[in-house]
Amino acid sequence: MKIAIDGPAAAGKTTLARRLAQALGFLFVPTGAMYRAAALAHQRGLPLEETEITVGENGRVFLNGEDVTDLLSNPALDELSSRLAAEPRVRARLVELQRRIAEGRNVVMEGRDIGTVVLPDAELKIFLWATLEERARRRQREQGGSFAEVLEAIRRRDERDSTRSCSPLRPAPDAVVLDTTDKTPDEVLKMALKLVEERRARLAS
Ligand code: C5P
Repeated sequence: MKIAIDGPAAAGKTTLARRLAQALGFLFVPTGAMYRAAALAHQRGLPLEETEITVGENGRVFLNGEDVTDLLSNPALDELSSRLAAEPRVRARLVELQRRIAEGRNVVMEGRDIGTVVLPDAELKIFLWATLEERARRRQREQGGSFAEVLEAIRRRDERDSTRSCSPLRPAPDAVVLDTTDKTPDEVLKMALKLVEERRARLAS
């Protein structure tokens, strides 16, 4: 079974995808972290076409075999990854790597274009949403900094992700939209597990 989780920055995709994968025994694939690894490769002057980005246990991300996971939350990579992600050449490479990871596996993959482009045949597609203010509050709790600056940075990224011509952020027509604004991570996980059960029952009948 393949599960696609998409949505804007700081909507809780990584938290949900990690916990859902753990609960189901599926592979967790954070594609935002893969774009961040591509940004790191760019900073290091590595040509993306010859760069391998892979995902291991528990969402660890490897750049040419080196575990770079702990370098990826650096806020400098927020902006650079989002700018690179608008380039068709970069997306083509990342989509190719992501499809390779998912092939023949049970996965929970999270990102912006998973239900629309990477895994259009995913059995379950969830689009996670929360208000901009709530997402900024969550991100500020994690990263610190001024609320106004965090909010502005997320707003800029949302705008770029939603308006780029190549694979813009939008819910797949068959995605279930979950508004997480007033929900705890436990409540969101419970809702997602219920959707998985419903899908499994439907696929079995
Ligand atoms: O999810 P995260 O914020 O870590 O992603 C970093 C950037 O990578 C996003 O701002 C977005 O521009 C890009 N991205 C994307 N498609 C994905 C995952 C991430 O364009 N599937």
